[in-house]
Amino acid sequence: MKVILATSNKGKIKEIKKILDSQEVVPFKEIIGELDIEENGKTFKENALIKARTIYEKVKDIYPDAVVISDDSGITVPALGNIPGIYSARFAGKNASDKDNLNKLINELKSKNIRKTPAYYTAAIAIVSKEGEFTVHGWMHGVVIDEARGDKGFGYDPMFIPSGYDKTLGELDDEIKKEISHRSKALKLAQRVLKVIKNK
Ligand code: IMP
Repeated sequence: MKVILATSNKGKIKEIKKILDSQEVVPFKEIIGELDIEENGKTFKENALIKARTIYEKVKDIYPDAVVISDDSGITVPALGNIPGIYSARFAGKNASDKDNLNKLINELKSKNIRKTPAYYTAAIAIVSKEGEFTVHGWMHGVVIDEARGDKGFGYDPMFIPSGYDKTLGELDDEIKKEISHRSKALKLAQRVLKVIKNK
C-alpha cells in the first residue's frame, strides 16, 4: 500500500516516516511536484482534510489504491488568547520561517511579561483513499517559555517543555519526542485506520 504524504514540511516528513517505518511512505512532491494548497478551514481537522483531499484528487488516476495522509498541526497558548493555533505556520506572515514564528511567539510572551505558561500542540491527521475520509487527533501538553533552548526538533520546539520534563523539545532527544508527541499519538490512531483500510 502506497502512503502519500500531503505535506512538504521537512520536520513532519521526517517524524511521520520514522513512525510509519513499515510502510512505503512518499511525500506528494516526489510524485506531482510543488503545489500550494490554500488552507482556509477553521480547524486543524478541516485543514487536514483540505490537504489530503486535494492531493488524493491529483494522484488517484495514477495510483487508484493510494492512501493519502495529511497532518495539520500547531501550538496553542491559552494565556495569549489561544494564539497561534491553526495559524502556527504563518504566525509571522505568509512566507515566515520556523525561526520567525518562534521569535514572534517568544516576543508575545515577553510583551506580556510571561516567562512560562501552559500550552499544547495539536495534530489532526486526515486519511483519504478510495475507502473514504477519516480523521484522528493527538495532543501534547506542556509549557512554553520566553526563550529558545536547543536546536533539535523543528518549529516551536525550542520554547516548549513537555509535561513531565524540565528541558525543551529543542534539547530533548528525538526519540523522546517520538514517544510523547501530538503527531505520534495521532499517527498511532492513523495506523489503526490504515490497518482497517488494508484488511477490509
Ligand atoms: P501546518 O503545516 O499548516 O500544519 O503548520 C504546522 C506548523 O505548526 C509548523 O510550521 C510549526 O510551526 C508548528 N508545529 C506543528 N507541529 C510541530 C512540532 O511537532 N514541533 C514544532 N512545531 C510544530
